[in-house]
Amino acid sequence: MQHSLLTDPNRHKRRLLKAILLIIFMVSLVIGSINLLWFQAYSIGALNYISMALCALIWLYYQHTHNLRVAVWLVSGAVMFNLASFIVLAQGGGYSLIWLTVLPPLVFFLLGKRAGSWVTAIFFAAALLYFYTQMPHLPPQRLATGAFLNIAEVMLVLFLIFRFYEGARSEAFAELVRISTMDKLTGIYNRAKLDDVLEQHIELMDRSEQPLSIMLLDLDHFKVVNDQFGHLQGDKVLQEVTKVIKRAIRKTDQFGRWGGEEFMLICPNTSAENAACLAEKLRAAVQDFDWQFAVHITVSIGIAEIAARQSSVQALQAADKALYRAKNNGRNRVEVAGHAMP
Ligand code: GH3
Ligand code: MG
Ligand code: MG
Repeated sequence: MQHSLLTDPNRHKRRLLKAILLIIFMVSLVIGSINLLWFQAYSIGALNYISMALCALIWLYYQHTHNLRVAVWLVSGAVMFNLASFIVLAQGGGYSLIWLTVLPPLVFFLLGKRAGSWVTAIFFAAALLYFYTQMPHLPPQRLATGAFLNIAEVMLVLFLIFRFYEGARSEAFAELVRISTMDKLTGIYNRAKLDDVLEQHIELMDRSEQPLSIMLLDLDHFKVVNDQFGHLQGDKVLQEVTKVIKRAIRKTDQFGRWGGEEFMLICPNTSAENAACLAEKLRAAVQDFDWQFAVHITVSIGIAEIAARQSSVQALQAADKALYRAKNNGRNRVEVAGHAMP
């Protein structure tokens, strides 16, 4: 498909999720085995193995359900479990605190700005509380007040930077999706998006065995409107036609601008006969619309019901052929592929 990142915006999240699970699993296996067999450090080894088991369970859960929303929370939990157990076991020594810095980029990316902020803030606050209460019990000079404040400041800076970073990233991504999928003039789907939506509906139709119809709508003699009233007026007509059609269709119908003065409507769960009824309604609505200037706008419509295992290209060719028939038979009319309409 053309826009893999746009049609599947969670692609990188899924990759990161799998990579984290694999890394924690492998590292826990190796370190856990060394701890158990070499150092006879049973409690640490047991923690390593628990973490390994957690990763395996999350992996199985995700493979089984494909529920990314839950899986990202489980993985964030597994990472925090590892961070917390490592810092507590090392009693904040051995530069273990440096591991705290990996949390914000990870949870902001996996959980988003809001949840990422909460998780980071709560985990960091808990870590500071732990250091503060443990400070008197740690060996002298291990965590002096200055060092403690340093850590707190770095945590705050990390929190703010990554919160801002994730906010900017998700906003830019949303804008990118909008620009690349919507038509600027009419505010409806553009051709690239229609291509994707049509492919998705054809895949769905093959599984659900519900009928699926598509419609190509082309304004009649539109060149004359531009020639007589200018392009700006022509643009307004395109915007108004969009509104007229949007008012008449169902929420589940997918409507977009195919290009120029041509539009496409994808009608799920709709047979050719039902699509023809809707098309007739749309044709009449455009014809009856009061344009408030001396213009007569009409639309010709070609319909194709998509047959089982038919490709999008074949379906579009069929709808296009029906549209040409509508034009050749006098315009301002509806034709269905494979049907001779009176
Ligand atoms: P037909 O009934 O055979 O479809 O005739 P037509 O004039 O509609 O078709 P033709 O393909 O000859 O011309 C289409 C016109 O649509 C030409 C072009 O200037 C106009 N057009 C395409 N895109 C836009 C646009 O974004 N704004 C405006 N104002 N006009 C556009
Ligand atoms: Mg045209
Ligand atoms: Mg036209």
